[in-house]
Amino acid sequence: MLYDLLLTGGEVIDPSAGLRGVMDLGISAGKIAAVGPNLDATQARKTISAKGRLVTAGLVDIHAHVFVNAHDMGGCTDHFCRASGVTTMCDAGSTGSSNFAGLRHMLDKEVRTRVRAFVNLSAIGITGTSRGGELSHFPYADPEGCARTVLENPDLAIGVKLRFGPGLVWEYSAEPVKMARRTAQMAGDVPMMMHITDSPVPLPDLIEHMKPGDIVTHCYHGRAHGIMGQEKQFLLPQVVEAQKAGIIFDCAHGRNHFNFRMIERALDQGFLPDTISTDLTMTSATKGPVWDLPTTMTKLLHFGLPLEEIIRRSTSSPAKIMGYEGTVGTLKPGANADVSVFELRDGNFELRDSDGDTITAKRRLLAQLVLKDGRVWYERPGE
Ligand SMILES: [Zn+2]
Repeated sequence: MLYDLLLTGGEVIDPSAGLRGVMDLGISAGKIAAVGPNLDATQARKTISAKGRLVTAGLVDIHAHVFVNAHDMGGCTDHFCRASGVTTMCDAGSTGSSNFAGLRHMLDKEVRTRVRAFVNLSAIGITGTSRGGELSHFPYADPEGCARTVLENPDLAIGVKLRFGPGLVWEYSAEPVKMARRTAQMAGDVPMMMHITDSPVPLPDLIEHMKPGDIVTHCYHGRAHGIMGQEKQFLLPQVVEAQKAGIIFDCAHGRNHFNFRMIERALDQGFLPDTISTDLTMTSATKGPVWDLPTTMTKLLHFGLPLEEIIRRSTSSPAKIMGYEGTVGTLKPGANADVSVFELRDGNFELRDSDGDTITAKRRLLAQLVLKDGRVWYERPGE
C-alpha cells in the first residue's frame, strides 16, 4: 500500500506549491506522499472524500497566546485549534525569561498543537495584571535573559516580543524598540515582533529601528498612529517602503486591533497583510469578536482579498517565519501531513470588528475535518 490515507476529490489550494484544482492527497507515515488528480485508491488503506470542500495545509497562526494567566488558552489550546483547522500556532510573547520554562512545561504536558514562541523582552511576560504593562517598570526589561532564553530553547523560541503602547513601556520613545532589536541581535539575529496599537509615537519613528524580517503586529488597528498616521486616510509612505524592504506586517485581530474601515482602505490602496493571525486568547475565543482564525480569514475574504492570498498568508508565509519552511504550511510531498478541509458555506454571516462595526459576509470558512501528522484530529459533528 502506498497510502495510509487518501483524501479524494477536494479542491486543493496550496499557494506554496502553486497548486489549485480538484485533486487527491495521499498520506503515508504521517507525511504528504503525493498530490494530484486520480491517485490510485486501491493503494490506500483508508479513503475519505473531500468532494465539494477546500483542502489546505493545516493553518498556521503566528500570533496567539497559550500560556495560562497570560490571556491564556492553556490546556484548551488544542480544543480551539482543532475545531478551527489550526495545527500550528505561535505564542506571541506571553512569557519572558522568568517564566518561559513554565510555558515549555505546559506545552509538553497539555498541548499537541505544534507551538513555537516569541520571548518577551520583559522578564515577566504578559502576566495579565491590570497594574501596568510588562515593561512599564523599567527594571523588568531583561535583554540578556531574553536573548539567553531564545538561545537555550532553539526548538521552541523564535524571536523577541515587545509590546509598545500606552502604559506598556517605560518611555514613549524609540528606546524600547532599539533595546528589543539589540536583544534579537544578541539572540542570534532572530526576528523581533512589535505589538503596536494606539502608540503615543508615530509608527515610522519606531519601524525605522527594525530590520527586514522583523514583524509589526496588529497592522489594521483603528487607534492612534497606525499605518495611515493620524488622518487614517492614506498609507504612510514609510510603511509602504518598510513592507517593500521586508518588514512583515501581521494583522493579529485581537479584541482591540482589527478595524474594518482601516482594512478596507488599506486593501484599496494595495496594502495586504503579510501574515493573517488572531491574537487569540481565552476571552476572544469564547466571547468574540475574534472566535478563530477561519473567522478572521472570512472577514478578509469579505473585503476582497483573494482566497489563495488568504490561504498563503495563513499557511506557508507564517510557517516560513517560524522556521518550518517546507515541512509545515505546505502540501508538498515530504511535508508533515497537517491538512485542513474547509467548507466555504454560503449564507448571511454577521461579523464584528474590534470597534463594534459589523459586516454581513456572504461566505464563511468552516473547518470540517482536520488531520495532524496524517491522523484525523478533528471532525465537525453532523449538523
Ligand atoms: Zn497578542
